[in-house]
Amino acid sequence: WNRRRSARPRRRVHQATDATTRSHLHIGRDLRRALEHQEFVLHYQPEIDTGTGRMVAAEALIRWLHPQRGMIGPNTFIPVAEHVGLIGRIGQWVLETACAQLHAWRAAGHDLRVAVNFSVEQLRRRDITDTVAYTLERFDLRPDDLVVEITESICMHAHDRARESLAHLAQLGVRLAIDDFGTGYSSLSYLKRMPVRILKIDRSFVVDLADAADATIVRNIISLAHELDLTVIVEGVETADQHELLRVMGCDVVQGYLVGKSLPPALFHDAFLAHRRHAIVVQKRV
Ligand code: C2E
Ligand code: MG
Ligand code: MG
Ligand code: MG
Repeated sequence: WNRRRSARPRRRVHQATDATTRSHLHIGRDLRRALEHQEFVLHYQPEIDTGTGRMVAAEALIRWLHPQRGMIGPNTFIPVAEHVGLIGRIGQWVLETACAQLHAWRAAGHDLRVAVNFSVEQLRRRDITDTVAYTLERFDLRPDDLVVEITESICMHAHDRARESLAHLAQLGVRLAIDDFGTGYSSLSYLKRMPVRILKIDRSFVVDLADAADATIVRNIISLAHELDLTVIVEGVETADQHELLRVMGCDVVQGYLVGKSLPPALFHDAFLAHRRHAIVVQKRV
């Protein structure tokens, strides 16, 4: 189940020409201003338990509301932020904003977790676990309320300090999730050695779920993951047929356009918290 994403923006960073280096410097200045002027926003996407239809978590996904260029997605600027050394500050902003949001939802009586995406650069910092613990405390949250998502490739190539951070975060009680699983070259056996609790199967497997080979791969990932006591989330679920297939396969949680796209907090509240409309997904299949 090894699959490569085509044309990942990260690649371009490694093959940077002078022109792209200059453009990174330019975007780097822009990103610094964006931090100061608060041009970033978090959108949230629901993660739904396939058994109960209840929302278990909301994943925070960053967007940049650029004054001239409009809304810019994370795939465009996160690799640059990593390259120019700004990902630590952006990551901290994401963590604080997501925790503040969860605190507000909790205060309004909504019971869910929040998931944030971490870059490997954040894990290289020795103080990351203390920072996470302090931020959780500040917003009156328990470590178990937070899910930290790291991509499969990070996990595989992470050097010792990043691995140490993962171990410390897990000891603290934060849930660790492997994101985009299946796009790298890892096997499930290496997961045994990682302190992760959640496996997020990449969206590319869902696209061809009607295909017998892909269905077999997904079914096997799910059953192996369960043997390792991991919760399985499938990303990119767009149709009711895909949802039904995944439910039968034993997938624990789904995330994708079928349930909803990511939304800014107010719209997220109206769509998924105010009336619990996500329960529709479960009703549909009976
Ligand atoms: P990800 O963490 O794997 O997030 C899932 C991506 O798939 C999101 O794109 C989401 O909007 C999109 N998606 C969700 N459901 C569907 C679906 O049904 N169909 C399709 N076609 N797409 C779907 P987005 O928001 O553009 O984020 C892209 C990536 O950027 C994320 O992938 C994550 O790796 C990274 N990212 C997002 N926010 C942050 C952040 O705060 N920090 C860091 N370091 N990375 C972030
Ligand atoms: Mg993610
Ligand atoms: Mg993913
Ligand atoms: Mg991704």
